[in-house]
Amino acid sequence: MKLERVLPFARNLLESAVGPGDIAVDATLGNGHDTAFLAKLVGETGRVYGFDIQSDAIASTGFRLDELGLTERVVLFHKGHENILSSVPKEQFGKVRGAIFNLGYLPGGDKSIVTKSNTTIAAVEQLLEIMAPEALIVLVIYHGHEEGVQERDELLQFVKQLDQKKAHVLQYQFINQVNHPPFIIAIEKR
Ligand code: SAM
Repeated sequence: MKLERVLPFARNLLESAVGPGDIAVDATLGNGHDTAFLAKLVGETGRVYGFDIQSDAIASTGFRLDELGLTERVVLFHKGHENILSSVPKEQFGKVRGAIFNLGYLPGGDKSIVTKSNTTIAAVEQLLEIMAPEALIVLVIYHGHEEGVQERDELLQFVKQLDQKKAHVLQYQFINQVNHPPFIIAIEKR
C-alpha cells in the first residue's frame, strides 16, 4: 500500500517538526510509546513534557523511559493536559515545536477513563499559545467508543473554526474502512 497509514503518518509529522535540542509535549502518556519516540527526537539537550491523569500510565511510561535510558530527557506530570500552561516552565514558552495527543483510553487499562473534548480543546488552545511558529500539534482521534464520537465531533467543530491566519488544520483519514479506524488532525501554528 502506497498511502501512508495513520500511525506512521503521525510519527512522520512529529519528525518533521521536532529535532535535537527542541521542546515537545506528549499530552497523553499512556504506555509511553510516543513519549519515547519524542525523547529520541529531542536528543540529550531537548526536553519532553508529558501528561496523564492515571498513575498506571505514569508508572508504565517511567519504566519504558528507564529501560531505554531516556529518563533524563522527560518530565512527567501526573495531571491532565488541561494544565499545560501552568506546568510547562515559562522559559520554554515560544520554544515548543511538537505535541502529540493519542485520544481515547489506555490500551490494556481501564476503558472507562477516556479523554474528553473540553479538556482536549483547552490543552490545544494552551499549546497554540506557547508553541513556536510552524510547530505541530498531532491529534490521533479514536472514535470507536461512545465518548469518542462526541469528542471527535466537538473537536472537529473546534478546529474547523480556527483562524486560518493563525493555524493550518489538516485531516488525514481513510474514509472507506470498517470499524471506525483512528484518524489524524494536525494543526500547524502560523
Ligand atoms: N500514546 C499512548 C501510548 O503510547 O501508549 C496512548 C495514550 S491512551 C490512548 C490515552 C491516555 O490519555 C490514557 O492513558 C488516559 O489516562 C489519558 N488521559 C485521559 N484524560 C487525560 C487528560 N485530561 N490529560 C492527560 N491524559 C489524559
